[in-house]
Amino acid sequence: MALIHLFRRCNQRCVFCSYPAEEGGDPAPSLKAWLKEIAAMPPGLVQLSGGEPLLAGAENLRLLLAAVKKLGRRAELQTNALAAADLPAADLAAIGKALAAARGYFNVNFPAATPALDLKITRARGGFRRRTAGVRRLIAAGAPVRLTHVITAQNYKQLPAFAAFVARELPGVAWVQFSYIKGIGRAAGKKHLPRYAAVRPPLLEALEICRRGGLRCEVDHIPPCFLGEFFRLNVDIVKMREGRAGPHLQEKARVPACGGCRFLKLCPGPRKDYIAVHKTL
Ligand code: SF4
Repeated sequence: MALIHLFRRCNQRCVFCSYPAEEGGDPAPSLKAWLKEIAAMPPGLVQLSGGEPLLAGAENLRLLLAAVKKLGRRAELQTNALAAADLPAADLAAIGKALAAARGYFNVNFPAATPALDLKITRARGGFRRRTAGVRRLIAAGAPVRLTHVITAQNYKQLPAFAAFVARELPGVAWVQFSYIKGIGRAAGKKHLPRYAAVRPPLLEALEICRRGGLRCEVDHIPPCFLGEFFRLNVDIVKMREGRAGPHLQEKARVPACGGCRFLKLCPGPRKDYIAVHKTL
């Protein structure tokens, strides 16, 4: 898996952004530089990130995705979907077609089910309305759409409302990932990281709503011991079972409270930034 930050430029200022705060100038978009960087990366899925990748311009993205396909690699195009609400239909269709050809998918950061909460988290005025419209247009653009719902101290109590919103308002979404916040970048520190024990009840309710609504979902960065009967939705389990290397091993560590756990072989433990804040599970 290879993550490339195309640039820092973004049309949101999310409180949970894990990319370092903007400082200094941002290099101009350069297809040549991006391709050089990708060619030097480890094999596997190419994750195109930013900033906001849709601000790179449709032709740049189309060429970049075509190059990823030519390398025989798959692509994930990460976006907050705001720009997708306004892009010309032909541009969006070209991006969707190139992404589908690279066996890829859109990965949309969708943090709230109401305009007020969306604004509080993303600090983008009108963001909720534009994001909802953008996701509908991305679905129509032809590549699968995954929603990533980053769980933070600001939104975890609304997890069931979010699951119900997606099931009701966004048919066509391929799957949802509930991903506990990474306590790095602008999100470093205690105030953004709720305890797993507090997240557990609303998360289990949300997962049950997804199950009843036929909405595929998965969970990242919350250990299986907090997922009850949904423990198989934890994305690390498959990686651990297959003995895969990857960031899950570097970013996480077991704590003394893990002793005797039935998932010990299938779970690398909580994130290290979580341990730094809460000391234990
Ligand atoms: S190893 Fe630790 S964090 Fe992982 S499931 Fe077991 S107790 Fe939870």
